[in-house]
Amino acid sequence: MEDTLLVVNCGSSSLKLALYDRQMHCLASALAERLGSSDAFGRLDANDQRHQIEIPAPGDHDAALAALIQQLRTLQLLQGQPRAVGHRVVHGGESFTDAARITPEVVDAIERCAALAPLHNPVNLVGIRATQALFPEVPQVAVFDTAYHQSLPEHAYLYALPQRFYQEWGVRRYGFHGTSHQFMAGEAARILDKPLSETSIISAHLGNGCSITAIRDGQSVDTSMGLTPLEGLVMGTRSGDLDPGLFEFLGGKGLSPAEINRLLNQDSGLLGLSGETNDMRTLTELAANGHRQADLAIEVFCFRLARYVGAMTASLTQLDALVFTGGIGENSALVRTRTVAHLQLLGLSLDNNHNDRHGRDNQHHIEHADSRFPILVIPTNEERVIAQSALNHS
Ligand code: AMP
Repeated sequence: MEDTLLVVNCGSSSLKLALYDRQMHCLASALAERLGSSDAFGRLDANDQRHQIEIPAPGDHDAALAALIQQLRTLQLLQGQPRAVGHRVVHGGESFTDAARITPEVVDAIERCAALAPLHNPVNLVGIRATQALFPEVPQVAVFDTAYHQSLPEHAYLYALPQRFYQEWGVRRYGFHGTSHQFMAGEAARILDKPLSETSIISAHLGNGCSITAIRDGQSVDTSMGLTPLEGLVMGTRSGDLDPGLFEFLGGKGLSPAEINRLLNQDSGLLGLSGETNDMRTLTELAANGHRQADLAIEVFCFRLARYVGAMTASLTQLDALVFTGGIGENSALVRTRTVAHLQLLGLSLDNNHNDRHGRDNQHHIEHADSRFPILVIPTNEERVIAQSALNHS
């Protein structure tokens, strides 16, 4: 079928694939993990069935992509070539304000941005090259996590550092999860029946990674992630905001820069605080059974989030809705309750029944009738947005 859209999302040791039709229905989704090792494996979900997939040696991204595509062909979900391929690219620096059809110049620009995202951009390029080799005639489109936040004003993106760090090395706040926040703005405008250009929301994307964005008249004007996706909210394994003085303190205790980096990215957040897990569902169960550290981890998460909701109001002149999305934002009534409990001064309050049903019974709305502002739960779907962008830009 030439009418399919392929979405490719390459991580350092994983590769996610999704296949959509032109009506944006997901036909299949697949994941290959432990790439680069001898026990690489994959699975593909389609038609309510899960298929286990062997990744042949050398078990790298190219081998995984070929094996997953072959499975799509075997299942006759992909015949011939896809209409277009959309690639998630983490860092577009200041070069991209929108998705871009991939040309040699675009590849050069992604390579230049690799200095800002050394763990992500090079592996995103591996995915792009492998897909180009498989489908040389098919338009390939890069969809950047950072692009939507290029509308941030200077006062929101500059760090209070000597100017040369920005001018010479590009040290500034870029923001991430842009695809999801942009989708929230569009969906909120549709649900609230307002033109996007007149819609202002605070969008909280709460998954394993978490970020919050102030969207004014449809445009991103402030966001919690910065130069890297480490800044801001408490996340699954990432610390979010810290005192920069901590670096010298930990250095004095003998931790190397690489060890500190690992600590803050992989061993902190909900996992570090709870000492148990980064998974909010498990933490909620533990807390309900009296696990004090799990309960405290949830409270630190919610309080930090509430502080950021307050901070985001500094960038807005009106608020049409506070929006929750991501695995936690969409599914955790507890997190929403404990966050909104800190926001009484803003006049926000929840309807417990609608909140418990995640707004599915009330067209996404979960606010109490007395709440000063609407509160919405909207499921995000980054892969679908990438598929749509691939179609639009091909
Ligand atoms: P994501 O990265 O968007 O897939 O989100 C992953 C996070 O969502 C994990 O912390 C999950 O535990 C959390 N999550 C998913 N479902 C639920 C649920 N029903 N209740 C609480 N947290 C959930």
